[in-house]
Amino acid sequence: DPRLQGISEAIRVVPHFPKQGIMFNDITTLLLRPGVFKDAVDLFVERYRGMGIDAVAGIEARGFIFGPAIALAIGAKFIPLRKPRKLPGEVISEKYVLEYGTDCLEMHVGAIERPGERVLIVDDLVATGGTLCAAIRLVERAGAVVVECACLIGLPKFKNLYKLNGKPVYVLVESR
Ligand code: 5GP
Repeated sequence: DPRLQGISEAIRVVPHFPKQGIMFNDITTLLLRPGVFKDAVDLFVERYRGMGIDAVAGIEARGFIFGPAIALAIGAKFIPLRKPRKLPGEVISEKYVLEYGTDCLEMHVGAIERPGERVLIVDDLVATGGTLCAAIRLVERAGAVVVECACLIGLPKFKNLYKLNGKPVYVLVESR
């Protein structure tokens, strides 16, 4: 698709952020170009429209930028998956392992309203897949079905890992 090159070029790569040795893929530069931002959302919408998706679950923070736009366009609800102690209601949570230490994602009890709801999980980037795996576990524990995970960017070295917990991961572009 000719739109993919524009998306790839609009993502800025920042060396040594947030620490020495990390090449950070910065999607804020893509957001400054409304045509390219729209192309990214449209590509997801074209893939997921008509698939009977009930909910888009976005991962804090950058999944909150793309997830709601996709949800509105396909007529699905939006569920925020948040970092600990941000959600005011009763939550279920899933811990996951990071390079150093652990982190956690939380979801409101009641966000999934019926067993078997079909959920699309959205984030900006998949690296090790640890974050998406925690999101999959969280959504499934609530009784929903994860249809797919969708990210703008995938790291090429993790190419073969694009099936997490048996769930497909769909990526628009590889990181440069
Ligand atoms: P993983 O759990 O797959 O190793 O890491 C993915 C998570 O870390 C995502 O939530 C993603 O937003 C964040 N992340 C890691 N590296 C980058 C990066 O280079 N750019 C951006 N935008 N996010 C990153």
